[in-house]
Amino acid sequence: MGKVTGFKEFKRKTEDYREVSLRVKDYGEIFTGTHDIEHLKTQGARCMDCGVPFCQSDNGCPVNNLIPEWNHLVYTDQWKTALNRLHKTNNFPEFTGRVCPAPCEGSCVLGITNPAVTIKNIENAIVDKGFAEGWISAKIPENRTDKKVAVIGSGPAGLAAAAQLNKAGHSVTVYERADRIGGLLMYGIPNMKLGKDVVQRRVDLLEEEGVTFVTGADVGGSGGNVVDVKTLQKDNDALLFATGATKARDLEIPGRDLKGVHFAMEFLTANTKSLLDSDLNDGNFISAKDKNVIVIGGGDTGTDCIGTSLRHGCKSMVNFELLPQSPAERAEDNPWPLWPLIHRVDYGHEESAERFGRDPREYRILTKEFIDDGNGNVAGVRIVEVKWAKVDDQWNMEEIEGTEKVWDADLVLLSMGFLGPEHYVSDALNIDYDARSNYQAKHGKYTTNIEGIFAAGDCRRGQSLVVWGINEGREAAREIDRYLMGDSLLP
Ligand SMILES: Cc1cc2nc3c(=O)[nH]c(=O)nc-3n(C[C@H](O)[C@H](O)[C@H](O)COP(=O)(O)OP(=O)(O)OC[C@H]3O[C@@H](n4cnc5c(N)ncnc54)[C@H](O)[C@@H]3O)c2cc1C
Ligand code: SF4
Repeated sequence: MGKVTGFKEFKRKTEDYREVSLRVKDYGEIFTGTHDIEHLKTQGARCMDCGVPFCQSDNGCPVNNLIPEWNHLVYTDQWKTALNRLHKTNNFPEFTGRVCPAPCEGSCVLGITNPAVTIKNIENAIVDKGFAEGWISAKIPENRTDKKVAVIGSGPAGLAAAAQLNKAGHSVTVYERADRIGGLLMYGIPNMKLGKDVVQRRVDLLEEEGVTFVTGADVGGSGGNVVDVKTLQKDNDALLFATGATKARDLEIPGRDLKGVHFAMEFLTANTKSLLDSDLNDGNFISAKDKNVIVIGGGDTGTDCIGTSLRHGCKSMVNFELLPQSPAERAEDNPWPLWPLIHRVDYGHEESAERFGRDPREYRILTKEFIDDGNGNVAGVRIVEVKWAKVDDQWNMEEIEGTEKVWDADLVLLSMGFLGPEHYVSDALNIDYDARSNYQAKHGKYTTNIEGIFAAGDCRRGQSLVVWGINEGREAAREIDRYLMGDSLLP
């Protein structure tokens, strides 16, 4: 345990982001890029080394990071050992340390009576220090098996599986239809939250360790660079689907076809690609400059649309949420150690509030129609306010009469979640889907109904988190290794 009385002596203090007025002017990470080591030691000292560390199990960290161990190691200045412990459970702590919502902190025992330990900051500092000190290098497997595995999709699930299978000595090829590796780490989560150099650094390490990457490879597709899924099946000993939940939920209301109404991912992906290709000079992106922007739907995707639009220089920003605002504190039916369903202010909300003087979110709003400017462009959004009431234990939504209103809009971004994986990749294989159209494969097992074909990550569990992708990729690798070799030493 760090310091026996640490949790009494030191207050929780998270690392500051860069100042809003400066960071909205560029696409650099919102983090300062430096860690105050002495400060983090006192934060690590707040850990109580609980007999049952809820932070690292059950409702806590999905990859079961050994949190009390590294809190202690950080407090006692043993950063390299802390890094080794961190890499035992997490292949990519530099991703989770930046973007994880930190369910671990929601279930930290100290959080029952006091603010939780700053676990995420400590994780990020350990791995950043590891890179800065040169402690992280490629670990090339000493022995190779004669087994070949194809991984389809290069998000956190595919990358974690590839890392683990390669470690076990198998020859792994990752097929990615995009022109860069990383899935939503590359073309989803914007640079502000996760620098693309950080993603590429890890991809380069994996390549050095022996993983083969093929970009522009659309498995099962019908366009130019198509890879036949049956050929992959024949040429490999196992196949892993890690294709993500890429089917976006649409809003089929009048005016949906108007110019200026886009899915959030059309906006975010094009922005990152143009930024990486040409620093936005090629113009191949949807610009929010001088536009009244309305983002429909919240979550990480909505926030990222807000942050990106602000950086373009939008004229105004409004974010519609269908649900009411969450409470400031946990509700009675949301006790510790469950994930706290409370009102949060993310980076984009903070930036929008500073720029326009108010939080951009409007709650309990139902969007009814997109208004035409007469030339086929969107000019506004007609909405009505709703109220929510519990009827027979079910939430029921009702429109409030007389609350209809039109908001000006030149750009509307739809961020209402995702409906599961696209199926064209698996069409030729007769794979079973579950009721939500995800690949049917049990968590912990990952086998589909077809022998030798596995599924992991968002394409199996539905839209989720980076840390869950890593969890599923690691576990699927273990199951694939077991399938190929009869047993596995992978965790
Ligand atoms: C805008 C946005 C912001 C987010 N922010 C956060 C956050 O802050 N924190 C967090 O924890 N989570 C966040 N998430 C969620 C997180 O990114 C995902 O849960 C995670 O990336 C899922 O990992 P995955 O490996 O299963 O799939 P993905 O990351 O979706 O990767 C799947 C890959 O498969 C490829 N693919 C699909 N079909 C084919 C095919 N036929 N052939 C070849 N390749 C194919 C896709 O191109 C894609 O690259 C965010 C999601 C979005 C959309
Ligand atoms: S990966 Fe996420 S849940 Fe796990 S320790 Fe890090 S911040 Fe917490």
